[in-house]
Amino acid sequence: MVTRREIALGAIVLAATIGTGLDALRWRGGANAAAETFEVTHTPEEWRKLLTPEQYAVLREQDTERPFTSPLNKEHRKGTFTCAGCDLPLFASDTKFDSGTGWPSFYAPIDGAVKTNTDHTFGMVREEVHCRRCGGHLGHVFDDGPKPTGLRYCINGVALKFVPA
Ligand SMILES: [Zn+2]
Repeated sequence: MVTRREIALGAIVLAATIGTGLDALRWRGGANAAAETFEVTHTPEEWRKLLTPEQYAVLREQDTERPFTSPLNKEHRKGTFTCAGCDLPLFASDTKFDSGTGWPSFYAPIDGAVKTNTDHTFGMVREEVHCRRCGGHLGHVFDDGPKPTGLRYCINGVALKFVPA
């Protein structure tokens, strides 16, 4: 059975193939867009000292944690989810919802906390989400989320820290 999400994704990929074929050819994946600059910067060596290997792989190398592995999936207390790289508050607990995907999911970030890039890796076109302060990769945003935004920020739990209210 073809799900609504697969149809939506197919439409996005088709549109992107037609519209931005050239961009796809130029895209090299990996690091965030080279043109962007961030308030918090460290060398790869410094980041490796600041982060766990799992955090480094996701935040700095755009890896994806295995689904259903983050303890934050089951975090239902009131509080704030902050960047594991620089502690910037990223998501409020009242925007978190259970998407069933196995990754912590939110329908909106805190105002101005994240930025996005178009990600053409793995033959898909997705909107990559990263911390606006340190550029750390967080996850992706999709347009199949709940009201009021209709957006689903699918975030690696390892890229987040939870601060209870
Ligand atoms: Zn950050």
